[in-house]
Amino acid sequence: MKRRLTLLGATGSVGASALDVVARHQDRFDVVAIAANSNADKLAALCRRFRPTYAALCDRSAAAALARTLAAEGLPTQVLAGAESLVFVATLPEVDTVLAGIVGAAGLRSTLAAASAGKRILLANKEALVIGGACFMDAVAEGGATLLPIDSEHNAIFQCLPTGYARDPRAAGIERIWLTASGGPFLTAPVADLSRMTPDEACAHPKWSMGRKISVDSATMMNKGLEVIEAHWLFGAPRERITVVIHPQSVIHSLVEYVDGSMLAELGHPDMRIPIAHALAYSERIESGAPALDLAALAGLSFQTPDLVRFPCLPLAYDALATGGTAPAILNAANEVAVGAFLAGMIRFTDIAASCARTLEHVAAGPMSTLDDALRADAGARRYVRESLRLPAESATALA
Ligand code: NAD
Ligand code: MG
Repeated sequence: MKRRLTLLGATGSVGASALDVVARHQDRFDVVAIAANSNADKLAALCRRFRPTYAALCDRSAAAALARTLAAEGLPTQVLAGAESLVFVATLPEVDTVLAGIVGAAGLRSTLAAASAGKRILLANKEALVIGGACFMDAVAEGGATLLPIDSEHNAIFQCLPTGYARDPRAAGIERIWLTASGGPFLTAPVADLSRMTPDEACAHPKWSMGRKISVDSATMMNKGLEVIEAHWLFGAPRERITVVIHPQSVIHSLVEYVDGSMLAELGHPDMRIPIAHALAYSERIESGAPALDLAALAGLSFQTPDLVRFPCLPLAYDALATGGTAPAILNAANEVAVGAFLAGMIRFTDIAASCARTLEHVAAGPMSTLDDALRADAGARRYVRESLRLPAESATALA
């Protein structure tokens, strides 16, 4: 039976990698729905190529433009508009697999809806899990959903875990989870120069080609911090058992260390098609389009402990995880606003970490019994960052 897919974030970097794999295996996958924010031209091109039943755009005027284009060309795809349309396509009864590839908190509602609807979720949207935490994992369990990580590190860990792993490291004989980090574009830049780095310099990742928000997160290493929180929830590992190591070659995508001293790793090119193909076909294996590694041609693999003066965002994430409750949601919201301001040229690169630290100090974290607690914390943190950085008020809530 063919797998029937909804691709949330179809116009993004992860969306493009997923569609590349899907196009190689049209006998296995049907694209039922694609969704994105506002890029009508790109979505129209995908409609021509993949002939989905539905195409959803969050932005209503972009959706109207898309509908006109498709109607003029006689394409049968039904166009949907608004944030609620993302939830609609994430929960379609005819869809079994949902790619959660929207960036940031904007992906939370649709990813959570897919969880409650019991879908197989290919999770790229780590921010949804960071915000939702235990509530997100409860929705997965209660909905009977399957969570397959496609963040490369978490996919690597998933591949190195024993079959039937039940989110209990000790029971599985696991000593530690090692998350590898490339160190990003500023690994060797003088720390004194970091405040002058531009958005384009921050987005020039040495190994991975990705969207701009996650590229900046990689430059600050907030991405790795969010991934520590992601690993905590996905694998039930306490923060003391999750260690970050810098590995600039990005060949080893992460490792699991067992109590007997064995360390299992997943290796490959830094190409998102590999984890996406793994999760799309799981538990079978399909070609991803990525070439195999030429081991003899590798100059060497090196590892180092992260410098926390250079990368202050990493300890902030560990702190937020230690505080628990709504602290990770507060950190994520602060980071999203600060990164947006940096990309818009309104603050310096080093202001991102400073602003996140200040927000964690000033916006009190509370317990998280329901998702509303997280949403309130997210809104409060966004308000605080906007006021403290004197940014213009946001016209719409970021939580689509
Ligand atoms: P991107 O910026 O390239 O694409 C983002 C996608 O989200 C686009 O399709 C955009 O239209 C959509 N989107 C944004 N706001 C939206 C909204 N309000 N409503 C609906 N759609 C919206 O980002 P990306 O690099 O593909 O990253 C996507 C997610 O995957 C992020 O959470 C990121 O952390 C994670 N991730 C990405 C990579 C990578 O290699 N790019 C690797 C691991 C994890
Ligand atoms: Mg990653």
